[in-house]
Amino acid sequence: MSQIIHRSLHSTPPVAVSAQGAYITDAAGKRYLDACGGAAVSCLGHAHPDVLAAMHRQIDQLAYAHTGFFTSDTVEQLAAQLTRTAPGDLNYAYFVSGGSEAVETALKLARQYFVEIGQPQRTRFVARAQSYHGNTLGALAVGGNEWRRRQFAPLLIDVVRVSACNAYRDRRADESEQAYTQRLLNELEQAILEAGPETLIGFCAETVVGATTGATPPTPGYLQGVRRLCDKYGMLYIADEVMCGMGRTGTLHAFEQDDVVPDIVTIAKGLGGGYQPIGAVLASEKIVAALQAGSGLFQHGHTYICHPTAAAAALAVQQVIERDNLLEAVKTQGARLHQQLREVLGELPHVGDTRGRGLFAGVELVEDKASKRPFDPAFKLHAQIKANCMARGLMVYPMGGTLDGQYGDHILIAPPFIVTASQIDFVVDTLRQVIVEETG
Ligand code: PMP
Repeated sequence: MSQIIHRSLHSTPPVAVSAQGAYITDAAGKRYLDACGGAAVSCLGHAHPDVLAAMHRQIDQLAYAHTGFFTSDTVEQLAAQLTRTAPGDLNYAYFVSGGSEAVETALKLARQYFVEIGQPQRTRFVARAQSYHGNTLGALAVGGNEWRRRQFAPLLIDVVRVSACNAYRDRRADESEQAYTQRLLNELEQAILEAGPETLIGFCAETVVGATTGATPPTPGYLQGVRRLCDKYGMLYIADEVMCGMGRTGTLHAFEQDDVVPDIVTIAKGLGGGYQPIGAVLASEKIVAALQAGSGLFQHGHTYICHPTAAAAALAVQQVIERDNLLEAVKTQGARLHQQLREVLGELPHVGDTRGRGLFAGVELVEDKASKRPFDPAFKLHAQIKANCMARGLMVYPMGGTLDGQYGDHILIAPPFIVTASQIDFVVDTLRQVIVEETG
C-alpha cells in the first residue's frame, strides 16, 4: 500500500516508470498516449533530447543558487527570451515553482503596485465564476470553483465575482455573440461601479478557461472590452495563462489572438514542459517602474525562485518551440483535432459542445443537445471516461460539475505539440468509443 497521500485516499494510481515522446509506460509495461500532457504540461512530449542535454549541462555547472546572493546566466537568458517574445511592454519576469505560486505572485505584485503609487485603499480583485487559478489560499480566493473554496472560507482576499464568458452555456437563444459579449461587459462595468472602482486592484481571468469548463475561449471582443474597462477605472488586467499559455493555443500567449496586452501575465505548466517545476509572472514596465521609484523592493520571495535548473529546462523548451516552428504545428494539428472532434464526436447525442483553440480542446457531455442539462447529475461521468480511456491506453483530462449544477462533465485534450495526425485519430476514435460506451 502506498504511503503517499494520493488524491483519492482509497486507491493508488498505476506506477509510471518511463516516458518517451507522447507516451508514458507503467510498471506493467502498458503504454499510454499522453493526450493531455498530464494537465497541459508536457508540451514537447517526454524525454526531449535537447531539454535533457540542457538540464544535464546546467546541473553539472550550477544546479542551484539562492537569489539572495546571486543571479545566473541561464535565468537572465530565460527572462530575455520571455520578454523578447511577449507583446507590449511586458518587459520583466519573476520566476517561481509553479502555477499557484505565479498567481500568488501576480496578486501581491498588483497589490504592492497600488501601495507604491499611493492608492493603498485598492485591496480587492474582480474575478470570474467557473475559473481555476490554483490551490493556494490567494489563488483559491480568486478562483471561481465554489466547491473548491467553500470548506476553506473565509478566504484571505476579498473578491468581486462576475460571470465567466461561456457562450455555449450562457448566450441566450435570441442573442447574437456580439450582444452576449456586450451584456457581459455591461455586467462587469456594473459590478465595478457597485464595488467602487477606487477599492479595486484589478481583473483576473484565464484567457481560455482550462480545467473548470474545458478549453472555453472568450467571445470576440470580450477581452478588449475588459482591457478598456480596466483602463477606464484604473485597474490592472491580470491574464492567467498557466494552462492555456506558452504556445498551447497556437500563439505563444493565448491573449495575442484577442489583440490585447495585459499588465501582468502568469505562466507555468508548458513553460518548463514538465521537465522541472517552474512558473513565471510577466509584468509591464509601469508596474516595475512604480516599485523601483517607490520602495525599491518587491515584498515577496520563495526559496526556489529563479532556480537555474528549472530555468535551463524552460529555456530549452522555449528554444525548441522557436527552432522547430512548433507554433505552426500547434495550429495545423489543432485544426485537425478540432475538425475531427466536430465531425466524429459532434454527432453523438450526448456531446453538447466541442471547443478550444490550437491543441487545447474541450468536449462537454450533456443529457441532450437541446436542454444542455448535464448528462450525469452526480458528475461521475468524467471519471468513468478517464478510467475507460486509461484502460485503452489513452490519457485525457477529466473534470465535471459546478455547485449550481449548471455546467456538466467535460474532457480536456491537450496533446504535445509534436503530436502526429495518426495519434490525433487515435485520440478521437478512442474517445468516441468510450463516450458511446459510457453514455449508453
Ligand atoms: N492557473 C490555472 C489557469 C491553472 O490551470 C492552474 C493549474 N491547473 C493553476 C493556475 C495552478 O497551477 P499549479 O497547479 O501549478 O499550482
